[in-house]
Amino acid sequence: MEIKGNIFFIPGQDAFLPDSHVYVIGDMKTKDLTLIDAGIMGNGSYKINLLEKAGFQLEDIKRIILTHTHIDHMGCLAELRVIIPHLELWVHEEEALPLQRGDERTVYGMEAFRSLCQTQFHLKPGDFSFPVHRQLQGGETLDIGGMGWEVLHIPGHSLGSIALYNADEKVLIPGDVIYADHAIGRFDLHGASGRTLRESLFRLAELDVDVLLPGHNRVARDLRPGYIGETAKEWESYLT
Ligand SMILES: [Zn+2]
Ligand SMILES: [Zn+2]
Repeated sequence: MEIKGNIFFIPGQDAFLPDSHVYVIGDMKTKDLTLIDAGIMGNGSYKINLLEKAGFQLEDIKRIILTHTHIDHMGCLAELRVIIPHLELWVHEEEALPLQRGDERTVYGMEAFRSLCQTQFHLKPGDFSFPVHRQLQGGETLDIGGMGWEVLHIPGHSLGSIALYNADEKVLIPGDVIYADHAIGRFDLHGASGRTLRESLFRLAELDVDVLLPGHNRVARDLRPGYIGETAKEWESYLT
């Protein structure tokens, strides 16, 4: 599904667990496409089918950037890597090291959820250990697929949460930090912090955003000016 120009959207298919949206960014003609997030386990063929139906060549998909490494955003990574083996993985440095070491505390977020998932999906410790090809820091601009995307490190929901911002089209991809329906990301999971999330929300509020493409729920193609700042203020007193 096309959002605009060179940005496509594969809606998450929530079931027993939530499934994050996947975005595809980049001009098809450049043959340099990027996936943003992978989604939950089990939905790999659904995603690959939609990509092929939309006319994407799988060999043109060069990398996947994770907004953060929660299971509902990266559970599907192994399935995608089987079908697109050259797929590079780019992640913020705060979550890259744990991912490479097989430290899955961020992936599951909380201990109770780890046992639930391991039972339900027959997962083993170490199933989410992946090599990271590029560690992002925040502050850099990625020139990919004929577009420029600024990386913003916006911790609070997780230690290494990032947003991608395209100033030309005023598009923000904030992962789970803010949604388009006045909700914000949880701040009770491993590595999360309400106070830090508050700072991150007010940083995002400074951006000029027309299109908000969050990790879940609806996408906003014509965002009301001031929406992010208003939402941050609505939540401010809880974020201590
Ligand atoms: Zn999520
Ligand atoms: Zn999350």
